[in-house]
Amino acid sequence: MPRDSEPYEPAKPKAVATAKPVAGRCLCGAVQFEIDYPARWAWHDHSGASRRAHGAAYATYVGSWRKRFRFTKGKAGITRFEDKAAQTARSFCTRCGTPLIYERARSPHMVNIPRALFLSRTGRQPLYHIGIEELQEWTYSGAPLVPLKGFPGVMWQRSKKNKRVDDGGLL
Ligand SMILES: [Zn+2]
Repeated sequence: MPRDSEPYEPAKPKAVATAKPVAGRCLCGAVQFEIDYPARWAWHDHSGASRRAHGAAYATYVGSWRKRFRFTKGKAGITRFEDKAAQTARSFCTRCGTPLIYERARSPHMVNIPRALFLSRTGRQPLYHIGIEELQEWTYSGAPLVPLKGFPGVMWQRSKKNKRVDDGGLL
């Protein structure tokens, strides 16, 4: 997979201090942020709320101390959705919709940022899972794939039971 070829790539002197900030951005680039390296921790969130908020099988977050996180561009272009029942707040880019930060009232000193937004290593591997019991049966979890004949670039997981209507009608 080629790397995102857009020009934003912070100039960084090679191998100086490990405390260099790590930058990230939304899809359109209007919002940019950074955290101090290393992050506090990283985790996969399989909960239904995060699944919907990201429109993805699950969300992978990097947790940072709030005081070690800052927006560096586009703060005015951020919208915040507060889920009062869950006591959480999710912010996203008003222009492109990218989820930006996820805050939980029970951890007021932490800010959780989607791992996918960072441009380089955060200093933490996502070794932890929250809500794994909600892992969806359609989530890809590394099963062997083979090329789909006649469709370059498409791989598929050869199914043993090919009767399944909901998965069978892709092409
Ligand atoms: Zn954006």
